[in-house]
Amino acid sequence: MRILVVEDEQKIASDIARALEASGYIPDIVRDGEQAWFRGDTEDYGAIILDLGLPELDGISVLKRWRASDMTTPVLILTARGSWSERVEGIDAGADDYLAKPFQIEELLARLRAVLRRTAGHASSVITIGSLLFDPRQMRVCLDGTPLQLSPLEYRVIAYLIHHRDRVVPQHELVEHVYGTNSDRETNTLEVLIGRLRRKVGTKLIETRRGYGYIIASDPTKGNIPT
Ligand code: CA
Repeated sequence: MRILVVEDEQKIASDIARALEASGYIPDIVRDGEQAWFRGDTEDYGAIILDLGLPELDGISVLKRWRASDMTTPVLILTARGSWSERVEGIDAGADDYLAKPFQIEELLARLRAVLRRTAGHASSVITIGSLLFDPRQMRVCLDGTPLQLSPLEYRVIAYLIHHRDRVVPQHELVEHVYGTNSDRETNTLEVLIGRLRRKVGTKLIETRRGYGYIIASDPTKGNIPT
């Protein structure tokens, strides 16, 4: 899943990016408010981490512009320590959660997971589909109780499809979230990846909708869900 990181302090930005990558996300870093507004408005992210103190355009204005254009991507804001007015302003402007600086990276990751869970309407982080168990906190996928050995790309595919379960995910969207936007991967590379994944998770979990994309149904016993 692609995450936009908006942070002008280089060290904080790279620390966040590293932690996100280690957790299986694809981070994109931008360093000023104008760029942030543009990227958030034109590209598709799973969530956005937004520092409020930014050059060019401040974080609150960026957030207000996004929400004014009906952008619904979950946004986690980073605020200055002890600034309660900034937090209030941020939440009123449409932030889904906040974290005061300085913060522990583990807390950032936990809040990000919670925001993603809430916005997807899932109460618990562990998801079970048939005999498959998906635990994003530990980046673990088990089949019939046995942990599967998945490559990072395979994990990204299954994590994205499970997060968006019961919806047909178009091929181009999946390619973008698995390989990143700057990649020239073709959809046939994705097909090969899906094929490998099916050999590990079983052939029925990931359904192909020819010409559309892929879907994981949350209740496989119900059979096909109409597209
Ligand atoms: Ca800043």
